[in-house]
Amino acid sequence: MHFLNAGKAGPRVKCPRCGKTVYWDPSFPFRPFCSERCKLIDLGDWANEQHVITGEPLESGSPEDLWSISDSEP
Ligand SMILES: [Zn+2]
Repeated sequence: MHFLNAGKAGPRVKCPRCGKTVYWDPSFPFRPFCSERCKLIDLGDWANEQHVITGEPLESGSPEDLWSISDSEP
């Protein structure tokens, strides 16, 4: 039994990009980021370090195929 806040009893982290509180539950599918925007920004930084981007903007149409690893449930 839990006596914490109903529906928000999971562990919390802070978004690596903006520091916003993120609850580690299905309400935040982009955890540990607070939103898809922060996740894309962070992965964009990673991409810039690993690859040479030739001026094309990040494809944001279907992130599921690219980043399904971090969305897996235990
Ligand atoms: Zn954020």
